[in-house]
Amino acid sequence: MITGSTRAAGVIGTPIRHSLSPSIFNAAFVAAGLDWAYLAFEVPEGAAGLALGGMRALGLEGLSVTMPHKAAVLEGLDELSTDAEALGAANCISRRGGLLRGDNTDGPGFVDSLRIDEGIDPDGLRCAIVGAGGAGRAVARALAGAGASEVVIVNRSPEPAARAAALAGGQGRVGTAEEVGDVDLVVNATPLGMGVVVSTAGEPEPLPLDVQRLGSGQTVVDLVYHPAVTPLVSAARARGLHAVTGLGMLIHQAAHAFRLWTSEDAPLEAMSAAAVAELARRGVPA
Ligand code: NDP
Repeated sequence: MITGSTRAAGVIGTPIRHSLSPSIFNAAFVAAGLDWAYLAFEVPEGAAGLALGGMRALGLEGLSVTMPHKAAVLEGLDELSTDAEALGAANCISRRGGLLRGDNTDGPGFVDSLRIDEGIDPDGLRCAIVGAGGAGRAVARALAGAGASEVVIVNRSPEPAARAAALAGGQGRVGTAEEVGDVDLVVNATPLGMGVVVSTAGEPEPLPLDVQRLGSGQTVVDLVYHPAVTPLVSAARARGLHAVTGLGMLIHQAAHAFRLWTSEDAPLEAMSAAAVAELARRGVPA
């Protein structure tokens, strides 16, 4: 029940009405027995600073930040984590007394999804990331930080590829599409496959990489989570590969935010179940 003492958090972005975060966080607050509530706020491009002013004035405890505000919020914050500073982007804002702190939980969420859900430790793995936008950069930095021996960036535009490779330090370099077959772990960090329900009619499906190049022993992770089973995940599984959906990263980056805001353990099972249930409610195959 929402009362006068309920504490409030939310997500800012545009478009925002499709966000799974309200389902995930409200389920988490219920499971943890916390008197908190979480709402989605449609904030137009250019209005991130106004939203932060609103957060301060209204005393919101935390804000998740999504497209297109992850970079724009930085200038309105008082403190940044080292990840947020290096990436030039924050996806999580916490109120610390009168100050607002920005974190970037995408990379840690990605690594947690590998370690906790899949039992895969990136330490020593050769990795390739296809795509070099905000998600690709966060994953590149996190994989290097987790000990990956190599982080190869494959992207259609060279400048973002070089920027992402630099974030992986000495382990990072720009590579070619052919190299996806030479690594242990392949990550799709492009939006290709988003909103595409896998066709059973044999129609061409947009794939971000050539699955014919992949072989046994390789793991494929698709950061796209809507639908959960993307054309890439489906095609990789059809070749007998271990393919991981983007839902794990979504849940674990939210779990980091939950811990930052509440200082409590995140109820991962309840959060995951809520995301799956919301996708099913929308008729999206899981
Ligand atoms: P950006 O727009 O910042 O970057 C997109 C990247 O994909 C760019 O490198 C772009 O290349 C490349 N790209 C886009 N379209 C194509 C195309 N048609 N062919 C080849 N490459 C293409 O997006 P984000 O990094 O923020 O997000 C990428 C995906 O990751 C989204 O689907 C998002 O939903 C998902 N995501 C999932 C998360 C999770 O928790 N599971 C968290 C964050 C993101 P170029 O540089 O040439 O433009």
